Amino acid sequence: MSDVRYWNKEIETAGRSEIETVQLDRLRGIVTSALNAPFYKKQLCKVGINSAEDIKSLDDLRRIPFAEKDDLRQNYPKGFLAVEPGEVVRIHTSSGTTGIPTVIYLTAADLNAATDLLARSIVATGAGREDVFQNMMSYGLFTGGLGLHYGAERVGMMVIPAGGGNTKRQVQLMKDFQTTVLHITPSYLLHIDSKLADYGVTLEQLNLKKAFIGAEPHSENARCKIEDTYRIDAYNSYGLSEMNGPGVAFECVYKNDLHVWEDAYIVEIIDSETGQILPDGQEGEVVLTNLIRHAMPLMRYRTRDLAFIHTEPCKCGRSHRRLSRILGRTDDMLIINGVNVFPSQIEEVIMRIPEVGTNYQIYIEKDGVLDRLTVKVELYSKMFLGEAKQIEKLKAKIREELSASITIKPAVELHEPGILPVSEGKAVRVVDSRKQL
Ligand code: ADP
Ligand code: ZN
Repeated sequence: MSDVRYWNKEIETAGRSEIETVQLDRLRGIVTSALNAPFYKKQLCKVGINSAEDIKSLDDLRRIPFAEKDDLRQNYPKGFLAVEPGEVVRIHTSSGTTGIPTVIYLTAADLNAATDLLARSIVATGAGREDVFQNMMSYGLFTGGLGLHYGAERVGMMVIPAGGGNTKRQVQLMKDFQTTVLHITPSYLLHIDSKLADYGVTLEQLNLKKAFIGAEPHSENARCKIEDTYRIDAYNSYGLSEMNGPGVAFECVYKNDLHVWEDAYIVEIIDSETGQILPDGQEGEVVLTNLIRHAMPLMRYRTRDLAFIHTEPCKCGRSHRRLSRILGRTDDMLIINGVNVFPSQIEEVIMRIPEVGTNYQIYIEKDGVLDRLTVKVELYSKMFLGEAKQIEKLKAKIREELSASITIKPAVELHEPGILPVSEGKAVRVVDSRKQL
């Protein structure tokens, strides 16, 4: 009988040398495909890689130059395409709000391999065919929706393709179909709690057990808040559209950071300044090589996400190494009056304060020659029933704890729930008006 804890026990528990054998074999296949893409034809020839034969060991990966978002943009739309257009069955693109979009192409076999990783990720959380899965990520060009959808169907779950938004209908669906598993951004899930009472729905009328949360940065404290609020288990899900979206790394039942599916992705951590490869345990930029996509090979892609690799094995028996939660991005560091601040540091602090509700936003603006940082925080509504003095005390406490962590004293504003803007997809946590000057 197969072991229900795993989707594919053999590969999930394979020894290091077996994983490396698969990686080498697949890397050679990807290099062969890549040589058909205009971008890689040039890049690989430059470093003397003219065929898969030139990849003798995994160390040869290091000869391949890093790829960056700009390479994808400059070669839009077809510079990375490595198969005849007739072979492609699906494309996805990034939203393109910050410039030219990036595009990915998939053949039927690529899509099948990506779907399998999502089925594997779902099963790793202990979810299975008896679950009712409500997919609250938006469908369409964004990879978050369709990816999990097909993975969940492959597992045999009952899938509710709800898509993003329309909170009232979402709650109705949860209630009517007794949804057990959600796929959702953590900020949106935190927001929904404040709406339940308006819709006259209690947690007891729902049957929620698990949530897959991802697509945006969040702290351990935000996860704890979600778990306490809904009395569920929340599993971190990591991916990016350039790597097929979700399913790159996922937490298992132990919720102790994310297994990177290493038969499908080679993960390296580098020093983002020097490009040097860092040892396990050290924080740096995550660099990923996709081993399962032949329509559009992408090797050594610099994600700009900061994390580290755990060295200890996981209790679940999976041998694929774990990535820490994303600790920040190389491009989201704020410099405020000369001090470096990551938004994640601010979230860490405010989400551990029990009176703080589920939404916050960070504002930075010019104040003469200086920068002014304001942290706007929503409190639970019961806080506003008490004395004003209490609120002032809390404000001072939040300010103090923030300044202990980020070394500058921000202005703090406390608001009733529902005042700050809410996003049904990725949250906009930082509004930096200095950039418009
Ligand atoms: P996706 O469609 O998978 O959301 P995008 O390309 O739109 O892909 O966004 C990917 C980026 O979102 C990642 O590079 C990372 O910065 C962020 N992200 C995705 N999942 C997580 C996560 N679990 N924790 C923190 N950040 C995440
Ligand atoms: Zn595990």
